[in-house]
Order: sequence, then C-alpha cells, then structure tokens
Amino acid sequence: MNTDQNLCPDCRIFKEICLCDHIRKFALKTRLTLLIHVKEIKRITNTGRFALYSLENSKAVLKGGLESVYQTHELVPDEYQSILLTPHAPSVLNKFSLQSFSKPVNLIVPDGTWQQVRRLISSEKKLHAIPHFKLPSENNVFSTLRKAPQENFLPTLGAIAQALGIIENHEIQEYFENLIEIMIQRLKKRLYRKSD
Ligand SMILES: [Zn+2]
Repeated sequence: MNTDQNLCPDCRIFKEICLCDHIRKFALKTRLTLLIHVKEIKRITNTGRFALYSLENSKAVLKGGLESVYQTHELVPDEYQSILLTPHAPSVLNKFSLQSFSKPVNLIVPDGTWQQVRRLISSEKKLHAIPHFKLPSENNVFSTLRKAPQENFLPTLGAIAQALGIIENHEIQEYFENLIEIMIQRLKKRLYRKSD
C-alpha cells in the first residue's frame, strides 16, 4: 500500500528508494512553471516535483478540480518571457530561438497524462499567446524513459532536463538526467525485491 508511512516525508517517494541524498538546489535565471493537474501532483510516481525541489526559481500551478484557482501572474509573470514546452509545437527549442528574448525565460511545462495536458493547454487562453516549442529530439532521454517502470513516470523530468540544458547549461541537464538514472535503478531493485 502507498500509505504515507511508506513514503519519505521530504521527497515523497518510497523510503527505501528515497532520493534526498541526491537532491541539490539550483538558483537559475530561468523560472520553471509546472502546470500540473491536481490529480497528478498527488501521484507518488510524478517526477515533476523533483524539479520543483531542486530549482529555487520554480512554481507549481495547479489546474483541475476545486484547487484550480491561481493568478495569471503566477502562470505568466510579466518579468519573464514565457514559453510553453509541448511536443506538438511547430518550432524547435534551440539557442537560436532564444536570441530574440530580452527577458529571462519562464519555462512552462505541462505535466500529466496526454489527455490532461491537452485539456490544460486548450483551456488556458494565456498559453495561446506565448511561443510554443518542442524539444529538438527525443533521443537519449526518451529512449531511456520508455524503459521506465511505469507509463508517464519520467518524461516530465526528462523533458525539463533537456530544455534547461538548452536554455541554461549542461550541468543542470546532467544533474536531472543523473537523478532519473538513479531513480530507475532504485525502482528496478525495488520491483525485483517485491517479486521475490
Ligand atoms: Zn527522501
């Protein structure tokens, strides 16, 4: 059972695979906004929250159900150039696409099942007016992710890693990709133990 007793109070993952020893804090110029369905953030398998723990300049904006109340400036703050990361965008995120921005980037990443994400985007008009980008390739991160123990387990963190690697630096990308790798290893071990 996934009761609270089994979970680390800090990283909210199973105690025996707690990742607290690997979580570091980063203060980036780029702001991360996780647009997340209320149901999703409660899931133990949601990995977007590891990005929130690690990035001081980050915010979760909840949508769906009764808790979907938030202010516009929380989603698209004026002091940032907001961009939306979505696999269906016509443009590819690269250094060149960032050159025309005069303000630091607010990277909005929708998190949830494909259906939830589609609804999140279509129901939020503020998102229609900002540039949309997709990641340059699905290599590396996503080929690893398909081996993830559960569907929808790691794509969000992997996508955030790749996007921040482009907007910020390789150090932050490597940090998150390493965290993903450790998570996969520890979960595999846990699954094997359970099936014994
Ligand atoms: Zn922990």
